Amino acid sequence: MTKKYSNSDLMKFAVKEQLKCTEYPKVGVVVAKYGLILSTGFRGEVAKKHAERVALEKLAMTDRIGSTVFTTLEPCVALQANQATESCADLIIASGVREVFVGVLDPNGTIYSQGFRKLLENNISVKFFNRKLRDAVEQETFEYGEIEKVIGPGKRRVPVVGSGIGIKVQFSETDQRTIDISWQTLQPAHGCVDLSSSNGAVRIAAGASRFSDITAPTVFRFPSHFARMKKDMIAIVLPEGSTFCVLIKLIDLFENDILLQWEVWNVQ
Ligand SMILES: [Zn+2]
Repeated sequence: MTKKYSNSDLMKFAVKEQLKCTEYPKVGVVVAKYGLILSTGFRGEVAKKHAERVALEKLAMTDRIGSTVFTTLEPCVALQANQATESCADLIIASGVREVFVGVLDPNGTIYSQGFRKLLENNISVKFFNRKLRDAVEQETFEYGEIEKVIGPGKRRVPVVGSGIGIKVQFSETDQRTIDISWQTLQPAHGCVDLSSSNGAVRIAAGASRFSDITAPTVFRFPSHFARMKKDMIAIVLPEGSTFCVLIKLIDLFENDILLQWEVWNVQ
């Protein structure tokens, strides 16, 4: 392969690799230098190996140094101090990679934007795919169907497009009580998104910045069927007759999706 490609072509090749994946999250990688493709990789190409590792391990160290990595998903970081396999961010740093282009940030609460930051801290230039490609990558990366229902507390990114998304929150694996919520009308320019549930079920926890600030879910006034949420706001969803409530914090919002953290609490 001796043809020289532009960065935007190389992003497209990474997306092409991504589309070869048969399981989620789908990740594709291209490693290039001076516009020449040195190697490619996709998740699932080698069992249990992340796409960045698949692509980089095809290359000798001399080729890795100074290269540019195009990856459709933000590289992972080590979650434990003594992790058996080094994280992709660590591998990229150890490989002497000069620049990384990222398709989408990882929605996993523990990794989210840490890979991005770790690379920057190690003097690697980090840029993003073109806007249009980012949208395409985002749609392919995760299996959003599973968001229709969540079990127990959690933190994750949720797409809010078109007519919005409904989510059933189940108390726990063994406790099948559920509460229905939905998200609509994401307005990134105004920094808000609407959370709704049944009549009188939604309260804004005014003044609370952490779940632990909340002593009782019913002390907050003005229950409604919906709340217009802004970043860092906490809302409580407690439908009439329910014996538990969902506390939801809007951690961040983006062009097409929002990042949430939530807890489930029993109520008397
Ligand atoms: Zn990884």
